[in-house]
Amino acid sequence: GEGRDKDVNFPRYIRVNTLRANVSDVVDKLRGELRSAKDGTISRTQRVDDTNEETDVPLVYVDAHVPDLLVLPPTASSWLHHDCEYVKTGSVVLQDKSSCFSALALARGIGEGAKGDAATSFDYIDACSAPGNKTSHLAALVQSAIDDINRSSKRTRGRTRSTIFAFERSSSRFNILQERMKQLIPSPSEDCAEVAVVPIHDDFLKADPSDPKFANVRAIMLDPSCSGSGIVNSPDRWMEDGYDNKDAKRIQSLSNFQLVALKHAMSFPNVDRIVYSTCSMHDEENEGVVSKALSEVEKSDNGNDWEVMAPVCLDHWPRRGREGGIGGLTKSQADCLIRCDGLDGDETNGFFVSLLVRKNTASECIN
Ligand code: SAM
Repeated sequence: GEGRDKDVNFPRYIRVNTLRANVSDVVDKLRGELRSAKDGTISRTQRVDDTNEETDVPLVYVDAHVPDLLVLPPTASSWLHHDCEYVKTGSVVLQDKSSCFSALALARGIGEGAKGDAATSFDYIDACSAPGNKTSHLAALVQSAIDDINRSSKRTRGRTRSTIFAFERSSSRFNILQERMKQLIPSPSEDCAEVAVVPIHDDFLKADPSDPKFANVRAIMLDPSCSGSGIVNSPDRWMEDGYDNKDAKRIQSLSNFQLVALKHAMSFPNVDRIVYSTCSMHDEENEGVVSKALSEVEKSDNGNDWEVMAPVCLDHWPRRGREGGIGGLTKSQADCLIRCDGLDGDETNGFFVSLLVRKNTASECIN
């Protein structure tokens, strides 16, 4: 449509890595930097923290949906880059807003029910990890859930141990993942960290669901390779209004892989919670994959049916999945799914997030 080929000027998002820094310290430092930079202003809709009177200087805001995410003026990109001090020390991660939804949807809503205490001590798999933005976000969220429980039961850190097994198939990307995890995740001896990330250089599809190593895995994050059609300012941005045969073939082969990977995740016996996400706009990679996985797994696996569930933490996010269409999802199913559209005012890249839970355990996750 109109204007869809123009660059879209988003705010600059950065996520505070709460395993290494705290939000208010980073906000204070950044406010100082922005005052001296005196460039750019922030979009009105992002002003959730509007109590600050100094309206003539560009400021930093905490995002309305993602707790540890900071919103800066777009111009901050000129000095917030991969070599800046904040990134090098592991205090912050340069991460788009929508891509924070995956770990949030997976980690929030567990650890709050009757089984809360046990729930925070189980293990996770990140099936497609590199460069590890979502892996480290998940680690931070799990540690903060454990910290909450420690606080309320007046315990010190160091009693719980939760492992995130982080798969990555590509060698070059696995190296990046390892480096990033060293930078972002404290080792267990540091600060009595209770969450460990174990990078695994392998194909997730080859992971054996009955391997005793994974017996305590209860939740999986699956963020597989996709067409990337939601990435707004990339040179090969995909237009939704039609693609040629070559594109159609590529999307078909991506969605075949995505479905196999999702069904593999659903085959882990103790897993009852999966987040499947892509940065694609295409139904074939999103609703289509989810609906096929739901119907194909139901057919083969009696008594353990899965369903989609709306992530509690994103209750206030208005854009939802697409009903009908190739996915054939009902309205209530589609309403459980999260979509982002950067070309339609969401101020973030195009993205898709679904939370799948096993029906017999679903009540545990509602809060
Ligand atoms: N979740 C990552 C993040 O937030 O930083 C981004 C993941 S990227 C979309 C997908 C990754 O999955 C790529 O690094 C790709 O090499 C990896 N991958 C693709 N197929 C895989 C497989 N079968 N097993 C493990 N990793 C795979």
